[in-house]
Parts: sequence; C-alpha cells; structure tokens
Amino acid sequence: MPTSSQVLVLNCGSSSLKFAVIDPRNGDLSVSGIGEALGEEEPQIKWSIHGQKFATSLPGDARHTEVIRFLVEQILNDKPELRDHLVAIGHRVVHGGEKFSHSVLINDAVINAIQECVALAPLHNPAHLQGIQAAREAFPELPQVAVFDTAFHQSMPRHAFVYALPFALYRDHGIRRYGMHGTSHRFVTERAAELLNLPVNEVNIISAHLGNGASITAIHNGRSIDTSMGLTPLEGLVMGTRCGDVDPGLLMHLSSRLDYCMKEISDMLNKKSGLLGISELSNDCRALEQAASEGHDGAQLAMDIFCYRLAKYIGAYHAVLPQVDALVFTGGIGENSSLVREKVLGQLRGLGYELDLGKNARARFGEEGPIASDRSCVTLVIPTNEEWVIARDAAELVPPDTPNHDPSVRE
Ligand code: AMP
Repeated sequence: MPTSSQVLVLNCGSSSLKFAVIDPRNGDLSVSGIGEALGEEEPQIKWSIHGQKFATSLPGDARHTEVIRFLVEQILNDKPELRDHLVAIGHRVVHGGEKFSHSVLINDAVINAIQECVALAPLHNPAHLQGIQAAREAFPELPQVAVFDTAFHQSMPRHAFVYALPFALYRDHGIRRYGMHGTSHRFVTERAAELLNLPVNEVNIISAHLGNGASITAIHNGRSIDTSMGLTPLEGLVMGTRCGDVDPGLLMHLSSRLDYCMKEISDMLNKKSGLLGISELSNDCRALEQAASEGHDGAQLAMDIFCYRLAKYIGAYHAVLPQVDALVFTGGIGENSSLVREKVLGQLRGLGYELDLGKNARARFGEEGPIASDRSCVTLVIPTNEEWVIARDAAELVPPDTPNHDPSVRE
C-alpha cells in the first residue's frame, strides 16, 4: 500500500478524460482509467485499481466535471492511502505556444495563456481548460501543474522552426513549427542518458516516437533542436491516419480540381490518410503486419512507406546533429514492432546501422534495451512513460506549504 506522495495525472480530450494516480518517485501506478463519450449519449467510465478492472456508465449529460466527481466520490473514497497522500494534480496540455518552455504551477495567468493558445490547438486546449476548472473545484487545496507537449521543443533554433513563408505570418500570427510529443521525447532523452551513462546535458540522440501519432526529434546536449511535427501534428512522419509531409500544392489541387472543401481536406489529411489511407484496411500497425504477411498489397505498401519515410528523417537528423550517441525507438509501434525497426535499420546500413536480430526480437512488450550489433550505431528501445514525467514535474513544483508536501520527491 502506498504511503508516499501521490500525484493525480489528468489528460483531458474533447470527449474523454484519462486519469492516473502515480507515485512520482518510481512511476508506480495505483489507479488508472478513462471517462469516454463525454457530452455524447452514453458516457462511460472504465478504471483499474492495482490491476483490478471496473467499468460503469455515467449519467447522459456527464462531462469532465462528472468524471472527476466520480473519481473523488467513488474510486478514491475508500482509498485513503491514495486520496490522503495526493500532493498535486498534473495536467497534460497539448499547446503552450511560445509561452512555456517548462511545466508550471497553474494560476489565473497560466489559464489565460492556455486560453490564448486555443487557436493553435482548437480541439485540445478548450478540453484542458475544462479539466483544469473541474479539478480546481474538486481539489481546491491541491496545487495544479500544467505539463505542455510543446515545451520540450521550445529550445529549437529559429532556422528549424520558422517556415519559409512571409515572415509576418510568424511575427503577427505565431505561425511556425512547434512540435508535439515533447513529454515523451524528454522522458526518452533522460532515460537514454542513464542507459548511456552520460549526463543529460551531454547526450545526443534521435528519438522516434511511433504510435498512432508519430514524431521524431533531434536532441543535442539534451535539448530538442528539430522535430518533425509543425504548426499542427499533421507534419512529418506517416502516422496511423495522418498523412505527414505532403506537397502543399496538394491543397490547391484538391480544392480547384476536385472541389474538396476545407473540412473535407482536413478530414482526409487527419483521419483518412497515413497507414489507413494507403492500405485501405487499417491504421493499426499490428493488423497491417499480419495482413502484409498474408499477401495484402496495400498493407505491404503502407508499411514500406512508413518505414522508408522514417528512415529518411533519421538520415536528415544525422545531418543536423554533430554526433549521435543513440537512435531510440518508443511509442506503441517503436516499442513493439520488431518488423518496423528491422526495415528501418535495413534502410540505414549506409549510415552504419546493423541490427542484432535476437535482441530486436526480444525488445517488445515493455522490454527496454539495445537492438543493434556491437559494430552498429547504438540503437535502443525505451518504453515511454509520459504520465510519470507529468507526475514528477507536478511533484517537483509543489510549494512547501502544501498539505502532504514531501521534500524527498525532489531528490
Ligand atoms: P500508441 O498510440 O503509442 O498507443 O501506439 C499504437 C500503435 O502501436 C498501433 O498502430 C498499434 O498497432 C501499435 N502496436 C502496439 N502493439 C504492437 C505490436 N505488438 N506490434 C506492432 N505494433 C504494435
């Protein structure tokens, strides 16, 4: 039973709220769950406590507030060993614009700043604000911390983040590359530094976060210097349903020649492209691997393009980094698909990569470690843990006069 400080981590989407109670010192997860279909006809909540699973439906009008209320009144009510040790609430916030390069304690000014970034993340930031409001009402005594997906990439230099567009679009409207998945890339950087026995501020890696969303980051001396996502998460790698890099002339062509409206273009590029669009079968890497092995041509092509484009980015990031201590794979695909890693490293032989087939096959389902031969550029699989980063940041920012404050968390 935990007796040390616990952090409640909240990740609010437009119609969902994911929650977790985590020990910030070791990442141990006591409670995790999700409220889904919020604002829709049949909202529900699923959760697990120490691995035991539960589920129930919520009232028809339930939104983020009702999920948090259920968490407090039903899930944590008879768990004083958790509830009474909560020290902070950590919120995942997708977009912090140029205002936040680190996690911050939430106050009214921070809320206003998140509000100002709504135009950059119109689906996510309003949901985060609802979640913050609901959590403030439910836990008025606890400090709330915002951890931004964009923060880690604020170290990118201008030449990496300014688009080759009229400069006024950046100056007057903030149109630039921001990058996402920063919390995951940061976790992987810190863990890679430990595994490589280097101080974080001396580690140089290429971090490939490959999940349903995917991005790759070049990290120099522990800081992001380039990343594949841009103003929005559409740019960069091929993803589950997003197209990644395309010729922007495509938009004019779709509009003027094929009569697509903006909504149709947006839906197509975000929801109907990527692995799903190419394969005409699925956005799920597992399903595509299976189908490709049974001769499905679209699945094979989708996997080929995914890996080829990823390998090209890795090559480009070798060019922007003065040295690469390790290439790191993470995210659902990066952590589990030995096939994707094999295809990508096969493409990169010219850069000095050589897979160790046995190690590659073993690094799955949460296993961490090297997957390349001793002669190769170092290549690691590191399971990501964004919730733990959020819990750690939240615990570290707790002011000393907070109830349950535990100074040892900072050690
Ligand atoms: P994420 O968004 O990080 O949860 O990752 C989801 C992606 O990981 C989906 O495309 C899954 O098919 C993929 N994935 C999960 N497990 C495996 C696996 N064992 N082999 C291949 N892909 C996997």
